[in-house]
This record gives sequence, structure tokens and C-alpha cells, in this order.
Amino acid sequence: MQRLLLIGAGHASAELLRRWAAAPLPEVELTLVSLEPLAPYSGMVPGWLAGDYAWEDCCIDFARLAARAGARLVVDRVVALDAMRREVLLAGGSVLAADTMVLNIGSTVRTPAIHHEPSPVLLATRPLGALRRAVDTLVERWRDVPQAPELVGVGGGAAGVETLLALRRRMLRAGRVPRCTLLSRDAELLRGFNATARRLTRAALTGAAVALRGGFDVQAVEPRALRAPDGQAQAADLVLWAAGAAAHAWPAASGLDVDAGGFVRVDATLRSTSHPWLFAVGDCAAFDPPLPKAGVYSVRMGPVLAHNVVATLAARELRAYQPQRDQLVLLNTADGRAIASRGRLAAAGRWAMRWKHTIDRRFVERYR
Ligand SMILES: Cc1cc2nc3c(=O)[nH]c(=O)nc-3n(C[C@H](O)[C@H](O)[C@H](O)COP(=O)(O)OP(=O)(O)OC[C@H]3O[C@@H](n4cnc5c(N)ncnc54)[C@H](O)[C@@H]3O)c2cc1C
Repeated sequence: MQRLLLIGAGHASAELLRRWAAAPLPEVELTLVSLEPLAPYSGMVPGWLAGDYAWEDCCIDFARLAARAGARLVVDRVVALDAMRREVLLAGGSVLAADTMVLNIGSTVRTPAIHHEPSPVLLATRPLGALRRAVDTLVERWRDVPQAPELVGVGGGAAGVETLLALRRRMLRAGRVPRCTLLSRDAELLRGFNATARRLTRAALTGAAVALRGGFDVQAVEPRALRAPDGQAQAADLVLWAAGAAAHAWPAASGLDVDAGGFVRVDATLRSTSHPWLFAVGDCAAFDPPLPKAGVYSVRMGPVLAHNVVATLAARELRAYQPQRDQLVLLNTADGRAIASRGRLAAAGRWAMRWKHTIDRRFVERYR
């Protein structure tokens, strides 16, 4: 009996489980380690944050997917991997060994330490389950939130823009009228996007009265403020932290080959360059050439991963993953509209939000 271990309920794992349910390999024991039975689909998280979707609408039910695939679901968190022994240690204390492993653990965000009181409330966009719990607590305690709070988003990428506009919408719905600021380390917003998409995004932020401060690199959290190394300060009651995708720490300590950021280096077949019995996909993988940390890449890796895992276990030929050259991005501006961007083209409107809704729902439905 061979042992296949999936770590992380990411997008590519969902596809692997779906295909496994249709065509399981006999003599393979499949186990999934997931933080939670329901894993959120990040594309719909801004819609949930704005109050447009229930949390469950945005989630893939991995307990059900695993059951259909005949896989054992272990609800726990991997805290260490021993690449020599092919074993992982779980936060709950148990050890799981495997012949073949898949890492699909996404990325995280690094937030600054908070030493001061009263500090701003800090909401981090990773892990999403923790964001949900923090926002639910906040919503229960609206009365503790000042009438005109300083709401500050940190991160000038798509997730930073979307989550700030979404939380602002949620607060307006609750009768709080926040003063909003978006801080970005880069002078410009949305690195890697075309000029029209950036212009439309700036217009959406201006329309929502969000002040934009480029070139602000947050280094420290002070009482009710954020501070940059050059002395700039920003008042803050509530901080939404969406700055940069960082690697989880434990893969770099495991003996696997990782890049400078700690992401697991993989070859064209998505196998670790140092330990070919291990696959890494999505945000946690370092592909050559580097890919943006976006869910669409993990989604497209799914079928190749499913094929290559089965090929490895059945001693067949592996396929190469070909990244798409550009991607469609639909940015929810939490005003009933979205910005659609691809390559050098971009446009905005209600139609784009309807399009996004249809694509996102179809994705989640696929795994129901
Ligand atoms: C608010 C927000 C909105 C976004 N919107 C978009 C969008 O519209 N389009 C887009 O392309 N990208 C979007 N992104 C980026 C996107 O979320 C990521 O690129 C994508 O989720 C990566 O997918 P993945 O399959 O690698 O991992 P994920 O989907 O992040 O899944 C990883 C899973 O592994 C679990 N996990 C992590 N550590 C462990 C551990 N130690 N043990 C067990 N399980 C673990 C996590 O809980 C999670 O369930 C958004 C990001 C954010 C924060």
C-alpha cells in the first residue's frame, strides 16, 4: 500500500480530490491535512467581507470532497516536515509519514509586532479562517468602534484594494462612516497591471473617498498609528493588512530546496527540485520563471498535479505545466461594479461584477 499525503486545502488539491473521486488508484491510501473542513475561495472573500455573501457560499467543503475521494481528512496544521524521513509533524502532536506528498499550503502575510496600547485592531488577510473570526468579532462589537474610525489598508496590490473597499462597505452598512486610507510601499498601485486598470482603480478609490499614500513602507505599529522608517505616520483605529505574500516558515527548515523567499522550488512537472517525491503547487511553490502569487495559477496547476501524482504512483510519464501568459483579473470594487483587466486591456462596470460572480460561483459549485 502506498501513502499519498496532501497538505493544505488549496485550489489544486480540490481538483486532485475531484479527479481522484472519479478514478481512484487502488492500493493507495490518501490523506488530506487541512486547517478546517471548509476552505474559503479567496476570489469571493472580498464579497463576503462586504456583506454580499455568506461565508459558506465562498467555501469549498473539503470534508465532503475528501469523503467522496475515499480520503482520510485530518483537521490539523502541519508544523514541520522532515524531508529525510518523509514525515510531517502536526500541531496536535501526531506524525504522518508518506511515500508521495503534495504541498498546497498557499502563502501568509507578515505583520509587524504590536507593543503599544491602545493599538489599532489589526486584521490580517491570511489565514482567511482567522480573518473571518476577527471580522465576526468586530461586527459583534460595532458599538466599540468609533463613529468615524480611521480605517487603513496596507498593501497596494489587488487584495489590498479589494479588502479595503469591501470592509468600508461593510462598515457603512453598519452605520459607521470610516475615514479610509490605503498605504502602499510602491509609489504606484497594482504592480504588474496595465495603465487603464490602475487608472480605473484609482478612480474607484477616489469615488469611495479613500486617500492613497504611495511610498509608505509600514515598519512599526504605534498607539493608534502606523509609522514608516522615514518618519511618516498614519493615524489608524483599524488596520487591514494585505501586504505581500510571504512563505510559511516550516518548508524552508525541512531540507527542501527553497528560493530566497522560502518558497519551495519546483521543476516543470511541479516536483520539488531537491526531493522529487514531493509536489508543491500554488502560492507555496517557486516556479522558474517566477509566477505571480494568484489563485488562477494554482487552479491551472490542478489538472497537471492530478495527472502527475497518479503518473508517479503508477510509474507513468509526467506532464509539464505551462503557465498561461496573462490572466483575467476581476477586481471587486464593492460598489456593485468590478474592474476587468487582462494584458493591456481593462474596463469597469456592473457587467464585470456579474461576470465575476458567475465565474466565482461556477468555480465553487464545481466542487460541491
Ligand atoms: C482577500 C484576497 C483576495 C484574493 N483574490 C484573488 C482573486 O480574485 N484572484 C486570484 O487569482 N487570486 C486572488 N488572491 C490570491 C489567492 O488567494 C492566492 O494566490 C491563492 O489562494 C493561492 O492558492 P493556493 O492553492 O496556493 O492556496 P490557498 O488557496 O491559499 O490554500 C492553502 C490552504 O492550505 C492551508 N494551510 C496553510 N498552512 C497549512 C498547514 N501548515 N497545515 C495545513 N494546512 C495549511 C490553508 O488554510 C489553506 O486552506 C486573493 C488573496 C486574498 C488574500
